Amino acid sequence: MCRHLAYLGPPRLLADLVLAPRYGLLRQSYEPRDMRGAGTVNVDGFGVGWYRGDRTVEPVRYRGDRPLWADESFAQIARVTEAGAVLAAIRSATEGMPIVHTACAPFTAGPWLFSHNGMITGWPGSMAGAAATLPVTDLLTLDAPTDSALLWALVRHRLRAGVDPADALVEVVGSVGAAAPGSRLNLLLTDGRQIWATAWGHALTTLRTADALTVASEGYDDQPGWQPVPEGYLLWGGASGGARLRSIADIDQVTRTDHREEVR
Ligand code: GLN
Repeated sequence: MCRHLAYLGPPRLLADLVLAPRYGLLRQSYEPRDMRGAGTVNVDGFGVGWYRGDRTVEPVRYRGDRPLWADESFAQIARVTEAGAVLAAIRSATEGMPIVHTACAPFTAGPWLFSHNGMITGWPGSMAGAAATLPVTDLLTLDAPTDSALLWALVRHRLRAGVDPADALVEVVGSVGAAAPGSRLNLLLTDGRQIWATAWGHALTTLRTADALTVASEGYDDQPGWQPVPEGYLLWGGASGGARLRSIADIDQVTRTDHREEVR
């Protein structure tokens, strides 16, 4: 099960966010602490997206199809690059899905960076109806033939139509959860100013300080400030101020089933 992280706050070296922390994404790539029975390692690629300080240009994305620890070029870039808005992910490919760099989050369009931690049950048949709601050109230009890339296309379609990001994520989790019960749909989205994240079938935790918000599948250290996001909720917030929670769970009773331990 992939792991992801988003950060908003004072500029930090990418290495300090992603590589250096004791239980950060680098360590989670070979020794994650909370996989909930879904896979054991996250070695099928990684990606990191970040914004320039003034957010006036689109975010930069670096991704690759090798384990995070094996990319010396990224390690070098991370040692000299600071950013105050970052989304990073490591991938554990779901069985049957290709191991290619284009399947690695973050997915991006305009100001957005997006990641999915999870899997869609019954793929691809369960998503035929959802896919049919998209413009054909969106389907022809999917980043990769994976559930995560389709989820991004569904979210992006709503963002382009001007749907509020929180509503877009709730709609997509709700409709996909209904069409494919038992799916794991932890979605993570940022525009460099706010983070939106869902907890739907997998762990999600946040660290809030006076001037920073971090949202992650697993806390990257053992400091006591990490707060779990309750299952079935959307969380959103910026670098300062309170993070807000909204239940996605109106549809919960109808669509949830127990997540099978072996699913990833
Ligand atoms: N199902 C997605 C993929 O294969 C994400 C995998 C995961 O979260 N383990 O790309």
